[in-house]
Amino acid sequence: SDNDHTTEGEPGALRTPIVAVLGHVDHGKTSLLDKIRGSAVHEGEAGAITQHIGSTAVPLDTISDIAGELVDPDDFDLPGLLYIDTPGHHSFSTLRSRGGALADIAILVVDVNDGFQPQTHEAMDILARTGTPFIVAANKIDTVPGWNPEPNRPSKVAIESQSDRVESDLNERLYEIIGQLSSKDISADMYWRVQDFQSNVGVVPVSAETGEGVPDLLTVLMGLSQRYMKDEMAIDVGGPAAGTVLEVKDTQGFGTTIDGVIYDGTIQANDTIVVGAKPNSIVTEVRALLQPKPLAEIRSDEEFEQVSEVAAAEGVKIAAPDLDDAMAGAPIRVVRDRDTSDVVDLVQQELADIEVSTDDDGLTVKADTLGSLEALVSTLEESEIPVMDASVGDVAPRDVRMAETASSSQEQSILAFNVDVLDDAQQLADQEDVRLFGHDVIYRLIEEYEEYVEEIEEAQQEQILENITRPARFKILPDHTFRQSDPAVVGVEVRGGLLRRNSNVVLFDGSTPDRVGSLKTIQDEGEDVDEARTGERVAVSIDGPTVGRQIKEGDELWVEIPEKHAKILEQELTEDISADEREVLSMYLDKHRNRDPFWGK
Ligand code: GDP
Repeated sequence: SDNDHTTEGEPGALRTPIVAVLGHVDHGKTSLLDKIRGSAVHEGEAGAITQHIGSTAVPLDTISDIAGELVDPDDFDLPGLLYIDTPGHHSFSTLRSRGGALADIAILVVDVNDGFQPQTHEAMDILARTGTPFIVAANKIDTVPGWNPEPNRPSKVAIESQSDRVESDLNERLYEIIGQLSSKDISADMYWRVQDFQSNVGVVPVSAETGEGVPDLLTVLMGLSQRYMKDEMAIDVGGPAAGTVLEVKDTQGFGTTIDGVIYDGTIQANDTIVVGAKPNSIVTEVRALLQPKPLAEIRSDEEFEQVSEVAAAEGVKIAAPDLDDAMAGAPIRVVRDRDTSDVVDLVQQELADIEVSTDDDGLTVKADTLGSLEALVSTLEESEIPVMDASVGDVAPRDVRMAETASSSQEQSILAFNVDVLDDAQQLADQEDVRLFGHDVIYRLIEEYEEYVEEIEEAQQEQILENITRPARFKILPDHTFRQSDPAVVGVEVRGGLLRRNSNVVLFDGSTPDRVGSLKTIQDEGEDVDEARTGERVAVSIDGPTVGRQIKEGDELWVEIPEKHAKILEQELTEDISADEREVLSMYLDKHRNRDPFWGK
């Protein structure tokens, strides 16, 4: 290994805290990481930073070079900071609410122009849930109109040297962010006013463009780690390694490999390891431990070099057989001199602690990592949306087959968070009418699904309303008999409700309904129409009665509502019919219930 800080390799050593960078898309996560790396390379001599698999180590001396007088290396005994290189969802969702959390500390990046955005909220919720300490990098301070940049100086100094107008403009935006934090019950302030970083979140103004604020940012991170996480950084370097899977991917010449971060102990090239997977964890022999070659040595076909061991905290690519079912976010454990079955139990226990509970029926859910799966499923649970199957990985045909078995058509859907849909899965889904929803913001994903459910329910409601007999009463107008019988054709006025063609018509004699015939057509000023509403006068043809006998001018007629329909209208559809239809319905029910109190109940 090339991480040979003096405190490592001894018993009771302190490891490097692991830092994740989170925030909304385009708020500058990647730029900030690049800037930190760039500053480190710029400041230091060779070896100032070490590029690991999926992470970058910045040693204390380099941090101190960047931070200048802000950091005196003698005040610290943590070896530096290890940044997870994949910013955003992927890295934060491998942060888990239980079990070995990957990141010890986080930087939440917020664009000062944009404030809190959906992924900012989401990141914060997960940080709060996992209890991960974090600081806020209020980024892009250089974009405040009139900003006078001077690369790489501390932002506190930078802000003081701006004009009053620029300073107050920036302050306004910073207080906006502090306000948004406090509306989430997080007490925050500018970092230089924070005394106790454990109960207050420090806001560090930065520019990933000019490097302003980077010294302060590193200082605050280092201070926070040293002060509050020293105990957790004490590791048994010589012991069997514990780590977390960052990514599962193909590596040329090695097949399926895992990129992981080791946060405790040491992994050696001849170790047996257990990797969390479902339904059974993987027990396998390490074939090779790989790390990136130093830039100068990379030849086109060989990016990696084999190393004999890797100690916490570092990233490593592990090549071993049978890794296909490994999942991002899953634990990695070296067996060494323990019983394999004990270690398997340990890993299974840790997996079980990642709460992804499922129901007998419901949605099929996919996510990129165990952590994000847990977050997605628990959010669905809060929204009372049942989940039948939840797993990590791209949407595959078997997921479509699973979704098809859901009992309701709306639940024959797959919610996919931050993963791809394999071509054959897409095809099968189209063919089998399984709906696919994809998004990289959890609550947007759920929102899209809920909108779809609402659409379906509305359509179903419309369908039901279309097929159900609607209440209406109407009066035969005096001197408006156009035809006596076969069919009778009379002018009527709709007194309430919705009169539709092809309805049976009744006349009440007290509370006894008497079916007089069937209303076949409706004409409005000579034109055939399907329906007529309250107040409209139309001509109707009624098959059955003869005017002057069963019906006569001045009679009030009612559309006959089958008892079953009356019940559905009253119990399920009252909100979906108009007020005057409701009124007619209630009069109609009253008439029946005078005779039979339980009619339509
Ligand atoms: P990410 O999606 O959060 O990783 O955001 P990026 O790092 O890709 O940044 C998004 C855009 O904002 C890019 O065009 C960056 O150049 C720009 N950007 C990021 N940080 C700053 C900054 O501090 N100042 C300015 N002016 N632009 C920035």
